[in-house]
Amino acid sequence: MDAQEESGMSAQMLLDPDPHGPAAAPPVSFDRDSAWVYFQGEMRRYRDCHLGPMTHALHYGTGCFEGIRAYWNDSQQQLYLFRVQEHYERLRQSTRILKIALPLGTDELTAVTTDLLGRNQFRSDVYIRPLAYKSTEDIGVRLHNLEDAFLIYAQPFGNYIEAAHGTRCMVSSWRRVDDNTAPARAKITGTYVNSALAKTEAYENGFDEAIVLGQDGHVCEGSAENLFMVRKGTLITPPVYDNILEGITRATVMQMWAEDLGLPVLERSIDRTELYVADEVLLCGTGAQLSPVVEIDHRPVGDGEIGPYSRQLQRLYSQLVRGQVEKYREWCLPVY
Ligand code: PMP
Repeated sequence: MDAQEESGMSAQMLLDPDPHGPAAAPPVSFDRDSAWVYFQGEMRRYRDCHLGPMTHALHYGTGCFEGIRAYWNDSQQQLYLFRVQEHYERLRQSTRILKIALPLGTDELTAVTTDLLGRNQFRSDVYIRPLAYKSTEDIGVRLHNLEDAFLIYAQPFGNYIEAAHGTRCMVSSWRRVDDNTAPARAKITGTYVNSALAKTEAYENGFDEAIVLGQDGHVCEGSAENLFMVRKGTLITPPVYDNILEGITRATVMQMWAEDLGLPVLERSIDRTELYVADEVLLCGTGAQLSPVVEIDHRPVGDGEIGPYSRQLQRLYSQLVRGQVEKYREWCLPVY
């Protein structure tokens, strides 16, 4: 994934607002050391959370995480958690695969998250990172006979992909992890080495993002985003059995496309060169939000500008996540 902290931000940070958002707050400073974190069953200051050097997850990637956003609505002076229950249900699925016991049910996790955001008094867009992990300090790669632990961290957060004029992508030379190797369906910390290899290869080659193919050569997704292409008014996306994360933004976009635009959606495998001839290509995720792709492998997508469907989806998405679309209000949980 997907976190700005991985790009080396310091404890005292100045964070940019999200330029896509109609009601984003001005840049906010964030004192990470003093921030509240849900850690080992209680609220603690970040500076008081400690992990031992031999923590299992640190060595073997035996953790599951989520990336959740909360959006600040300035006119309502309200912070909305977006589809938080779906994120915690996916975390539960990931932990089933990795044999990690979650200490709380989905409603309790939601309540703890709301409490955490309130305590931190966030008044800007926020990124929330729950992490369930094997915490035993021991040598030996395995999933059994290990203690489990859980934490939730949150911080103000702007754009994950900074590309106001559209995203430039390359098809990665790295292939996506396979379900029978390390399941892409689960958000497993260790599996994100696959994403990191692809992302950095793209970055070092001068692109914004990577598009990753599976072992069979079909398109899977971005390094931390699901992928859509538009051909003749149909929205097409790889199916869940093509080694993708079953994205929550993906589900949101599919519903908006079918119900609000009234157009057909197709889940089917996508060939690499279909991307070169698509009318529009779009990456989406909690971090990336909706990122239109304007170039792939030095070929313009469509006419090389952000397409009309992508603009329409971006506009609708930025309104609905801030609780401004009545029909989708149930996806937005008020914190205050
Ligand atoms: N694919 C991968 C590999 C991701 O890491 C993410 C980000 N969680 C996504 C897709 C998008 O998923 P979501 O919309 O649920 O954030």
